[in-house]
Amino acid sequence: MNVYDSDRMADILSPLGYDLTDKPQSADMAILNTCHIREKASEKTFSELGVLRKMREERKKTGDGDMIIAVAGCVAQAEGEEIMKRAPFVDMVFGPQSYHKLPEMLAAASRGAGQVLDTDFPVEPKFDHLPAEAIDTKLSAFLTVQEGCDKFCAFCVVPYTRGAEFSRATDDILSEAKRMVAGGTREITLLGQNVNAYHGLRKDGKAASLAELIQMLAEIDGLERLRYTTSHPLEMTEDLCRAHRDVDILMPYLHLPVQAGSDRILEAMNRRHTGAEYRRIIEKLRSYRPDLALSGDFIVGFPGETDQDFEDTLQLVRDVNYAQAYSFKYSPRPGTPAAALEGQMIPEDVKSERLARLQALLNEQQLAFNQSFKGKEIPVLLEREGKKEGQLIGRSPYMQSVYLQSPPHRIGRVATVIIEEGNANSLRGKLKSGGVADAA
Ligand code: SAH
Ligand code: SF4
Repeated sequence: MNVYDSDRMADILSPLGYDLTDKPQSADMAILNTCHIREKASEKTFSELGVLRKMREERKKTGDGDMIIAVAGCVAQAEGEEIMKRAPFVDMVFGPQSYHKLPEMLAAASRGAGQVLDTDFPVEPKFDHLPAEAIDTKLSAFLTVQEGCDKFCAFCVVPYTRGAEFSRATDDILSEAKRMVAGGTREITLLGQNVNAYHGLRKDGKAASLAELIQMLAEIDGLERLRYTTSHPLEMTEDLCRAHRDVDILMPYLHLPVQAGSDRILEAMNRRHTGAEYRRIIEKLRSYRPDLALSGDFIVGFPGETDQDFEDTLQLVRDVNYAQAYSFKYSPRPGTPAAALEGQMIPEDVKSERLARLQALLNEQQLAFNQSFKGKEIPVLLEREGKKEGQLIGRSPYMQSVYLQSPPHRIGRVATVIIEEGNANSLRGKLKSGGVADAA
C-alpha cells in the first residue's frame, strides 16, 4: 500500500512541476514514506533522515539550491511530534490519511511557516481529493479499495496508524480500474489492510461485498487478471470463496495470514478464530478451487508462546501446505495491548531458533510447490526484461516469477510457458510455440 500511496503522491505533485528522480542528492524534495508495522521502524526513519540531512547540507554548500524534507506514512502518523522535535530540519510530517493535502502543506513549508504537521484522520476521505487523470498504468498495478482496520489484533499497530476501516465506493473503483486498463494495465491487485472486509457503496446505496466488486471488475474488457490482498480468515465469506471458482480472471492464489497455530496464542492475539476454523476455510476454498496456492503470515515468539504452542504452528503449516509465506519474530509495537505483556516476553535466541525452524519448513514447502510445475504448461503474464540478454520475467497465476527467453515485444501478453525447472524462488521455462495470445 505504501507503493500505491507513493505513486499517488507523485500524481499530486506532478501538476506542481515535480517529477520523480533516482538521484536523491539532486532532489528538490525528498519524501520518506515509512512503515511502522515491525521493529526498528523509527530507528530506520531517523537514520535515513540523517542521510537526507547531509545531502541537503551538501546542496546548500555548493549553492545548488535546497531540498524540502518530508516524512510520510505510519511512522509519521505514530511519532509525528517526536520526529519534529528530534529532527528539526524536517519540513513536513504527515500521515497516510492526509497526503492529498500535500500542495497546501508544501505551500506553507515554502512560505517559511515552520514545520508542518498533519496527522489527522479527515472526515472526508483522501480518495475524494486525489487526481483522477494520473493513475498507475503499470502492467501489473495496485488499486486501493479499502483502508484501515477494526480488528485490533493484540500485536498490530495498523488500527492506530491507518485508522478505522473505510471502503471506497464501487463506482470510484470501477472508473479507476477502467482508466488503468485503458492505459495498459493487464493485472490489478486490489489492496486493503483488511481487504475482504470490503463493503463499499454501490450506485443504489447498498453495500457491495468484495466478491461483488470482483464480479463487477471482471466485466472490464482487457483486464486479464485480478488479485486481492490482505485478507483476514474471519471475512472469507461464502460468496468470496465461490468467486475463486466462478470468476475466471481471479487468480488461484490467496494470501490468508493465520499468524499462529495454537488456539491459546490465537486467542491471546485476538484473532477470533481457532486453528481448526482456519483449516476448514482452507478446505472449503480448495473444494471450490483445487489448484489454489496459499500464502500466509506467521509470527513466532508472541508473548507467552511455549514450545508446544510453537509445535502447533508447525503442525498447522504441515496440514495446510503453503506455496509461499512470510514469517516474523514478534516485536512489541508501542501502544498495542501485547506490548504490555512484559513478563511474558520470549528471549531473542528462542525467537530466532523458532523462526529458523519455521522458515526451513516453509522453504521446503515452497520448493516442493515450485518443483511440482516441472513439465507443466502455464499461462504467464510477461512483465519485463530480465538481466540476461533476451530474457523476460513474468508471473504465473500462482504468483511465481517465471524466467524465459523471448523477444521483448511480447511484454504485456499472456504466453503459454512450458516449465523446465522449479527453484526456491522462481520457475524457469520456455515459450510454447504458438503459445502467445494477444493481450485482449
Ligand atoms: N491485515 C493483515 C496483516 C497486516 S500486517 C492480517 O490480518 O493478517 C502484515 C503482517 O505483519 C502481519 O500479518 C503479521 O504477520 C506481521 N506483524 C504485524 N505486527 C507485528 C508485530 N508486532 N511483530 C511481528 N510481526 C508483526
Ligand atoms: Fe493488524 Fe491485520 Fe489484525 Fe488488522 S487484521 S489488526 S491489520 S493484523
